[in-house]
Amino acid sequence: MELQLYNTMTRQKEVFTPIKPPHVGLYTCGPTVYNFAHIGNLRTYVFSDILKRVLTYNGFKVKHVMNITDVGHLTGDRDMGEDKLESGARREGKSAWEIAEYYTQAFKKDLKKLNIIEPTIWCKATDTIDDQIALIRTLEEKGYTYRTSDGIYFDTAKFPDYTKLSHQDLDALKEGARVERNPEKRNATDFALWKFSPPEAHRQMEWDSPWGVGFPGWHIECSAMSMKYLGDMLDIHCGGTDHIDVHHTNEIAQSEAATGKTFFRFWMHGAFLIIAGGKKMAKSEGNFLTLSKSIEENRIDPLAYRFATFQTHYRKPMEFSPDAIAAAQNGWQHLRNQVRTLMDATEPGRADVDYQTKFQQATNNDLNMPQALAVVQELLKSDLSPDVKLATVFDFDQVLGLDLKQTSTGQALPDDIASLVEARQNARETKQWALSDSLRDEIQSKGFVVQDTPQGMKVYKP
Ligand code: AMP
Ligand code: ZN
Repeated sequence: MELQLYNTMTRQKEVFTPIKPPHVGLYTCGPTVYNFAHIGNLRTYVFSDILKRVLTYNGFKVKHVMNITDVGHLTGDRDMGEDKLESGARREGKSAWEIAEYYTQAFKKDLKKLNIIEPTIWCKATDTIDDQIALIRTLEEKGYTYRTSDGIYFDTAKFPDYTKLSHQDLDALKEGARVERNPEKRNATDFALWKFSPPEAHRQMEWDSPWGVGFPGWHIECSAMSMKYLGDMLDIHCGGTDHIDVHHTNEIAQSEAATGKTFFRFWMHGAFLIIAGGKKMAKSEGNFLTLSKSIEENRIDPLAYRFATFQTHYRKPMEFSPDAIAAAQNGWQHLRNQVRTLMDATEPGRADVDYQTKFQQATNNDLNMPQALAVVQELLKSDLSPDVKLATVFDFDQVLGLDLKQTSTGQALPDDIASLVEARQNARETKQWALSDSLRDEIQSKGFVVQDTPQGMKVYKP
């Protein structure tokens, strides 16, 4: 069956075929690790997880690379402002390296809770400085760069197709960017490849380079790392929609200028999670909700949030509200109950081909997950025998990633946790709420998630 994906580059759905079938190279722009990921960021990572699972479901072998931005992403757009890592370090009184390590681990935990499959390769900007310097040298040799007092810049006027991804009007763009324009830049859209450490302030992260001590610009890392780890398997590059105008546009300009070849063929972008009133959720706005704050503290399983994201197509903004998430939690629990009932009744048999086709038609239509969920419900309400339904829904779960097989088997708990759980059950039955809460905290402090569901307490390792 054909797989149709919307390509931001051409502004249309196209049949996806990789450069070297059955292999697919997939690059996802990773987080800037100066703070926790918020549930908007995580929506984008669920989207790229679904993309990867759908590719796999279609028989492709996916090599997935995700970077960790641990240097060079500045607080202002267009190379102004402070390095986010350095400002995070100051905020918390730790070193930039400690901040990066701490929030990288926190990010990986969030991915795990959301059942997001780990990339084949994790890579860090600070581990690939030499590759980035080599790429900047190539650009320099080809005459695309110039020097200002604060760094080495890419001359966008020398790359004629600069707006081919964003489809922006270059004149309007120049006008808009003038507001915060660095007077030494030749063109408003030019961007830093290498920045010099400011003489007056001591930077924690800095390296020697042919141009002087400093650090790489944000965009160069993704060009260097995607080419380094994917070679010429540059099939799909994805991220959130905010990356279209600047980050991905600049990645394309510098990569294609350096190699003379098409960088990635498919560009895919997930729309934003917004909060009531239409405002985007952003770390810089300070209005952000983390997975542990907004979801787990409200006794909502992270997988219910994963399920919630399926209810809106990835190219449409998704509005977050406590009511919407509660409704999604109910929907998800309903699905789990349906599967549990089947599991109590039977073993999985053989999956139903017609339903598999319907499901794949939905996923292959540019990852139409709302439609895919409708197929799941149609299957469960159908007259098919329970063993067939069960096998088919398990098959779908390779894409859904809702861990449906875990529904009734549960995980064996270590003895100390099991006795805490028992104590908490007693406390609840005797309405000793304070004791129950402190036992919950104790279980959670040992690395388990405690959830009170209509079916009773659920305790599991995230
Ligand atoms: P950052 O850590 O800021 O580099 O962002 C990580 C990813 O989250 C990027 O792909 C962004 O495009 C994406 N992103 C940022 N804000 C949102 C949001 N409110 N909703 C969805 N994705 C977002
Ligand atoms: Zn990137």
